[in-house]
Amino acid sequence: MPARVYDTLIVGAGFTGIGAAIKLTQAGVDDIVILERDERVGGTWRDTTYPGAACDIPSLLYSFSFVPNPTWSRAYPPAEEIRRHIEAMVDRYGLRRHLRLGVELTGLTFDEAEGVWIANTKGRKRFRARTVVLASGPLPDSSFPDIRGIDSYQGHKIHSARWDHDYDFTGKRVAVIGTGASAVQIVPELVKQAEFVKVFQRTPGWVLPRLDIAMPPIAQELFANVPAVQQLAREALFWGHEASATALVWHTPLTSLVARLGKAHLRMQVKDPWLRRQLTPDFAPGCKRMLISSDYYPALQRDNCKLIAWPIATLSPAGIRTSDGVEHHLDCIVFATGYDVHLTGPPFPVTGLGGRSLAEEWAHGAQAYKSINAHGYPNLFFMTGPNSGPGHNSLLVYVEGQLDYAVKGITTILGNDLRYLDVREDVQRRYNDRIQARLAKTTWMSGCRSWYLTADGFNAAMYPGFATQYLRQMRDFRFGDYEAIERDARRAVYASG
Ligand SMILES: Cc1cc2nc3c(=O)[nH]c(=O)nc-3n(C[C@H](O)[C@H](O)[C@H](O)COP(=O)(O)OP(=O)(O)OC[C@H]3O[C@@H](n4cnc5c(N)ncnc54)[C@H](O)[C@@H]3O)c2cc1C
Repeated sequence: MPARVYDTLIVGAGFTGIGAAIKLTQAGVDDIVILERDERVGGTWRDTTYPGAACDIPSLLYSFSFVPNPTWSRAYPPAEEIRRHIEAMVDRYGLRRHLRLGVELTGLTFDEAEGVWIANTKGRKRFRARTVVLASGPLPDSSFPDIRGIDSYQGHKIHSARWDHDYDFTGKRVAVIGTGASAVQIVPELVKQAEFVKVFQRTPGWVLPRLDIAMPPIAQELFANVPAVQQLAREALFWGHEASATALVWHTPLTSLVARLGKAHLRMQVKDPWLRRQLTPDFAPGCKRMLISSDYYPALQRDNCKLIAWPIATLSPAGIRTSDGVEHHLDCIVFATGYDVHLTGPPFPVTGLGGRSLAEEWAHGAQAYKSINAHGYPNLFFMTGPNSGPGHNSLLVYVEGQLDYAVKGITTILGNDLRYLDVREDVQRRYNDRIQARLAKTTWMSGCRSWYLTADGFNAAMYPGFATQYLRQMRDFRFGDYEAIERDARRAVYASG
């Protein structure tokens, strides 16, 4: 019996994959299968369990507008609450029947003759689908960094993305390597448990205060009974963040204002001038991800905490040796060193028309049309794809634009019974030329070293504009930008110049 061909296969059951399933079923595409390598849904919010883990964009905006949740407990709720929200989305929209948990995709190949994607999985089971939504996440993997001497270290090692809940920090001498978004959440919690915490900093980031409040019950009730009020609160947050692009995406006089705010926050929280100097960034706000915390600087100044700004020379059997020759003896090292961001494409082979390989084509930086389609890989929709990252707003706002676009593309393919729809190469090239020209004028390209850039300095991560601009382009699905091939003919049904 020939294998069943689904209308749509979704890879990943994080916020994005579940959002795609909701939008597709609402559009009448019900023949879908969602492959998730883990045994539970939730993505980042299932995997991120370090102490203090929370979102750093308020959840009223860091959630989907089409799945309002009136019961958020705080402005910045903890990871576990966000995970439960994603789990609740699955039940609310009856998506369990589409889920295949514990199934890891190992490769995708397009069968041109059939107009079908073939998905190989670790368990050897094959899935076939006419269209694919790739929602395997912008930060899917984490590994210990390649630091000199790491294998010689005899103590305990923990990566922030895979927390070890069995390890008891009581009475332990602990190091945290890294001072990014995860570290500023972890350090304030660790100093409450460990005997001593040393924080190893390579470059200090800009830290702005986190105005976290418990959501008053009256607000929750109002949100539940008058959804328009919650929508209004979301809009206010959206426009507030949108305005910050004028300071964070481009270098303007407002960028200096943000720098002044950051320095004022530092001055208010840190009295020691030498520590202040060590914590003062030497790059423009926005060039790297902004850090949001009101308890990181106070934690660094506790008696049992110390900032080490000397570069790490090597890890040793006993701990960490810094370039000033000091050996720091440690029981445990926490690596808050971030993720293996796939600036060059998904971490599994994707084979498109004529056997072309996505990994080869994107080896020096990923490129796609409107971040979502790549020429030569028809019927495939990349979520959080190339140049779709925001520096100033909620990622999920951008994902909503991608979901609506993917639904338009998928219903166009299915509704017209097309064999495939492939974005035109010239359209994609022109789009990327414009994106790269616009990127050149952004803060991200102003000289700091960030995970937004490949080793060659190519920016395949960020969208150089306002969220409103991104959403406008995603609302506009132009059939003429694609070559459409009918199911039973090899000719293009539409290809405009
Ligand atoms: C600590 C932390 C805080 C963050 N806070 C914010 C914030 O405040 N605001 C913001 O905008 N963004 C934030 N982010 C970014 C965050 O990653 C995204 O907002 C969001 O989680 C992306 O959702 P996703 O579904 O696209 O990806 P993910 O959440 O990564 O989900 C992808 C899913 O795909 C599965 N998968 C991957 N590969 C395969 C495979 N081969 N086969 C099958 N399944 C696979 C994974 O197991 C996972 O479940 C944060 C990230 C972290 C780590």
